[in-house]
Amino acid sequence: MNIHEYQAKELLRTYGVATPGGRVARDAAEAAAITREMGGRSVVKAQIHAGGRGKGGGVKFAKTPEEAAELFTKMNGMNLVTKQTGAEGRTVHTVFLSDPVDIARELYLSFLVDRATGRVTALASTEGGVEIEEVAEHTPEKIVKIAVDSALGLTGHQARELAFALGLEGDSWKKGATFFQNLYRLFVEKDCSMVEINPLVVTAQGDVCALDAKIAFDDNALFRHPEIVAYRDLNEEAHAEIEASKYGLNFIKLDGSIGCMVNGAGLAMATMDIIQYHGSSPANFLDVGGGASEEAVKNAFRIILQDPGVKAVLVNIFGGIMRCDIVAAGVVNAAKDIGVTVPVVVRLEGTNVEQGKKILSESGLSIQVAANLDDAARKVVASIR
Ligand code: GDP
Ligand code: MN
Repeated sequence: MNIHEYQAKELLRTYGVATPGGRVARDAAEAAAITREMGGRSVVKAQIHAGGRGKGGGVKFAKTPEEAAELFTKMNGMNLVTKQTGAEGRTVHTVFLSDPVDIARELYLSFLVDRATGRVTALASTEGGVEIEEVAEHTPEKIVKIAVDSALGLTGHQARELAFALGLEGDSWKKGATFFQNLYRLFVEKDCSMVEINPLVVTAQGDVCALDAKIAFDDNALFRHPEIVAYRDLNEEAHAEIEASKYGLNFIKLDGSIGCMVNGAGLAMATMDIIQYHGSSPANFLDVGGGASEEAVKNAFRIILQDPGVKAVLVNIFGGIMRCDIVAAGVVNAAKDIGVTVPVVVRLEGTNVEQGKKILSESGLSIQVAANLDDAARKVVASIR
């Protein structure tokens, strides 16, 4: 789960991690009032779950309260396109006003889980404010990596090493080391999968603070953090994924052209592999799980068809607990209700497979029944050629 910058900064503050003051404004008048409180100037920042806002026009400097009100009105509700949103962009529903900071240096710092070493790892770079991917590609020597031993946590020595690598000196060096240790504590206690501070800035006064913050949490640990779940913003999540979760279905949006309805994550992987093998790629996959009802199958099929990327659908079900006749009935009912305009290929195997195939062939719909998985993949790929 991801959260907004303003929420991330609230968390940082509770852990004693320095970040400029700021508040969310509900309307233009409040944007002006907040700016007045901050001394007449503010940074107006669009809150979306994507980076690159600065370059896309989602971070603007207001020199007066009136200007902050104008910027608020422009930004609130706008469709913000950044490098990370894709061409379709994201609608801005929340606008945050930040107390402006005089920047001396922009640095980069993140903690993430490094799967290769199985450790939380700090990444630091003197090249802040730019995308870290660019730094990694062109000047990888400018990224310092420090793996943390989970039994020891980020030690004082390591925190000072990070501060040194970032070229911090004197008071800033000490402030930096404290910042890093507090941030690490937040990372572990809140079960984060990634915390990225870009830019981490040294101010003209020598303070070290987080000018931007991006935090992602491990979904599997959310059950023990109701305070984090409360930060969830459904506006930011793919509509279809929310819809699917209502019915206990797992829907994942991808960028190919074949919609996939499967039962079980392993079968989903195999289905996507074989579609790729035959020269196409999946638009999504929807896992209906072990023992879905006819109603759930119907909803699953509807959700897949609502994805504009879908040019054809492959239903691949292995009936164990799940019965093939239930799947077939769900697909047929959904197809009749919605009026399917794309080719549909179904591969069924297992419990009640003959009844399932009979329901499909007697439905009067042009559903292709495949002999096996390979045949199904071939047929569905051929159907969009
Ligand atoms: P992002 O583009 O989505 O990553 O948004 P950021 O919050 O990182 O802001 C983008 C850039 O705006 C930063 O790298 C800074 O250069 C600039 N910026 C943001 N807040 C301030 C501020 O308070 N003072 C100054 N001088 N620049 C700021
Ligand atoms: Mn940033």
